[in-house]
Amino acid sequence: MSATEVSASANAIVIAKFGGTSVADFDAMNRSADVVLSNPNVRVVVLSASAGITNLLVALAEGLPAEVRAEHLAKIRQIQYAIIDKLTTQSVVRDEIDRMLDSITTLSEAAALATSNALTDELVSHGELMSTLLFVEILRQRDVVAEWFDVRKIMRTDDHFGRAQPDCAALGELTRSQLQPRLAQGRVITQGFIGSEAKGRTTTLGRGGSDYTAALLGEALGASRIDIWTDVPGIYTTDPRVVPTAKRIDQILFEEAAEMATFGAKVLHPATLLPAVRSDIPVFVGSSKDPAAGGTLVCNKTENPPLFRALALRRKQTLLTLHSLNMLHARGFLAEVFSILARHNISVDLITTSEVNVALTLDTTGSTSTGGNLLSSALLTELSSLCRVEVEENLSLVALIGNKLSQACGVGKEVFGVMDPFSIRLICYGASSNNLCFLVPSADAERVVQTLHRSLFE
Ligand code: ASP
Ligand code: MG
Repeated sequence: MSATEVSASANAIVIAKFGGTSVADFDAMNRSADVVLSNPNVRVVVLSASAGITNLLVALAEGLPAEVRAEHLAKIRQIQYAIIDKLTTQSVVRDEIDRMLDSITTLSEAAALATSNALTDELVSHGELMSTLLFVEILRQRDVVAEWFDVRKIMRTDDHFGRAQPDCAALGELTRSQLQPRLAQGRVITQGFIGSEAKGRTTTLGRGGSDYTAALLGEALGASRIDIWTDVPGIYTTDPRVVPTAKRIDQILFEEAAEMATFGAKVLHPATLLPAVRSDIPVFVGSSKDPAAGGTLVCNKTENPPLFRALALRRKQTLLTLHSLNMLHARGFLAEVFSILARHNISVDLITTSEVNVALTLDTTGSTSTGGNLLSSALLTELSSLCRVEVEENLSLVALIGNKLSQACGVGKEVFGVMDPFSIRLICYGASSNNLCFLVPSADAERVVQTLHRSLFE
């Protein structure tokens, strides 16, 4: 399926989002510009920071000694200057980028004295601010009318720095008053990932959040499609780096793609599909390196959705097993466990129970900008006052995504029949008819996926 093919309705707005590798350097930015220009319906462009920049900024936000700080700053400057150096007129954008670099320097010095989540968000936002400034310049040099737009004017969020929640009602209103009127004049280039809270301080939506920004703006504008341009031409039956024979999926249902994103397929940020499903806006995923290769369309209808669709792999899972004799015939034990987890802002992912045990994994999706460890000692202490807690690391989660999995006959045999060389630590099946997942030792995870892919998809 190609991006132009699915752009059926004539005047409808398409939002195009380009990830870090699609704006990594001058050539990548130009390829992305070609993609933008190939579709007149692309009115709003959402960008990530150039590849590598966000990681460098996150490190600076953690507070680095002066010498390391200088090295990081030099790397950031080098990545962005390499783009400026290839522009025909450079002076204005170089001044703008220099101002950004000065601001990064000042904020990194502050972070070396005292870190804070608010400061981190302010710092990391510079990645997207810079990539959008550069991209506007690239378009202008190609005689394209393009306006730089600070998304923080409309992306209103709460003040949960590092993983802020958007206020969709406010976003809708601000989009109509501030963004929509500009679209008549030309294309608008704006930042993914960042927003601002009520007092105007910068927030971020969590790592990889630019996809989510694109979907939220798509919803606010009533877009006809959201295009996510990355470095892989679509969603595959599994990660092609693990299984080279993995096949591209041309069309997939929202529910299936949402399960895939949640369970480890890296192509889409897990929250991306929420606004898309809510407002029924198809999402196209393709590669800006090779737009002609086509991609995957995520939508609300596909022909003959198959029983087995894809395999996702999520590494580094933490399994907590809670033992309590009080659980025997008791009421409210789980309620207590969950309220402790909720107080620590942790959402539970997989869960199984037996008479006196509960086993659960912690949801790490959409973790904060700094990717901090979820399993704090405060949480462990609190849980330990209630029950005996065992922690297991080095596990990976394999998720089989499909349709009507919990209704079909023989699924268990087809899946676990080929699993005899492996030990399976935990199985979850039946809550959703779109997935079956289980935990295996991380050392076996790739072989498990390869074995299953061979028997179910090849
Ligand atoms: N630049 C941010 C990150 O690396 C957001 C994004 O790329 O979506 O996480
Ligand atoms: Mg990214």
